[in-house]
Amino acid sequence: MIPSPIASLPARRVELAALLERWAAINSGSSHAAGLARMAAELRATFAAAFPAASFEELAADAPDYNPPGAKALRFRLRPSAPLQVFLCGHYDTVYGADDPFQACRWLDADTLNGPGVTDMKGGLVTLLAALQAFEQTPHAAQIGWEILLTPDEETGSHGTRALFEDAARRHHFGFVFEPARPNGDIIHSRKGTGGAIVTCHGRAAHAAKIPNDGRSAILGLAAFLLAAAKIPAELPGVLVNTGNIKGGSAATNVVPDFAQAELDLRVTKISDEAPLFARLRALAAEVAAAHEVKFDLNLWLNRPPKENHATEAALFPEFQRAGVDVGMKPFNWVHGGGASDGNLLGAAGLPCFDGIGPEGDHLHSAREYCRVNTLAPRAQTVALFLHRLASGEVPFPR
Ligand SMILES: [Zn+2]
Repeated sequence: MIPSPIASLPARRVELAALLERWAAINSGSSHAAGLARMAAELRATFAAAFPAASFEELAADAPDYNPPGAKALRFRLRPSAPLQVFLCGHYDTVYGADDPFQACRWLDADTLNGPGVTDMKGGLVTLLAALQAFEQTPHAAQIGWEILLTPDEETGSHGTRALFEDAARRHHFGFVFEPARPNGDIIHSRKGTGGAIVTCHGRAAHAAKIPNDGRSAILGLAAFLLAAAKIPAELPGVLVNTGNIKGGSAATNVVPDFAQAELDLRVTKISDEAPLFARLRALAAEVAAAHEVKFDLNLWLNRPPKENHATEAALFPEFQRAGVDVGMKPFNWVHGGGASDGNLLGAAGLPCFDGIGPEGDHLHSAREYCRVNTLAPRAQTVALFLHRLASGEVPFPR
């Protein structure tokens, strides 16, 4: 039995599509202060009108090296003393800056909207809104309290909002991250943690033609290090190492270069992968330094820890699948994802959550990004029905 406010959600298809088009037309690139402010004002007005009883706070999302001044997170809360507390989140920044040529939506067919952020993740924000609107009209809604957090800086690493997620993780039982679903409808089982490295190699400058030559090339030292580092994933399954860029030497080609530097992207599947990965990189630097008579400085970090699958997620996932099938979606599964999201921060802080539950789409972070608009309502119905079953006690929450 599906409560009628949930069953009737597909009737909002045209309205939800129009809302998505309106939000996608607002440029809210992570560094575009005015666009973020405009998007925040839109969201504040829409969510406040939808949930007039919810409390609202505008929270500073300061991270001077990453976020433009004035970036704000929006928080809405309702029934903070209800027995079950759930957390729903989405980011409203996109990767497309104010000067990006990709600024407008266009319909590729009746179901497919191409546009900036349509699936990552303004479509997710539309889904979140519609899901809670439907749930609020169901008979046992009072059993669940909720918090919505809408943030301006996910695409640059959530540097200004990390503490808000960690804080939220402590006061909730379960979370929902409305990042896009996979193109086939699957959601996220777990995500890799993301980090990086700056590897600096110092050699010894000399005339390139000196015989014998006591120069030590920092470029060759760094190259040896990078080639060996690229093989680490074969030794440590679940780890990824990508050299993103290199620089070094000077315009003078007759000089043995004494400086070279590379920036790496590092990813881990489990938090326990971090220590062996960092140890292996340090050991490699020591080996190459000895062989090439150069010196290395390694700056290694993990920004977002991996989102590992949680026992509560595993216990509830069959019910989430069932809710999807009951509202008429094709059956979906869950898969491991290489990219990080705010689900990583929630998972590491101990909050079980379903991630990647937004609409279906593909080609995120490119001008080919699209959203399957006909999946907005069913995705919202799935969340609403799942919440309704938790609220009514039909699905017991594992304590
Ligand atoms: Zn996203």
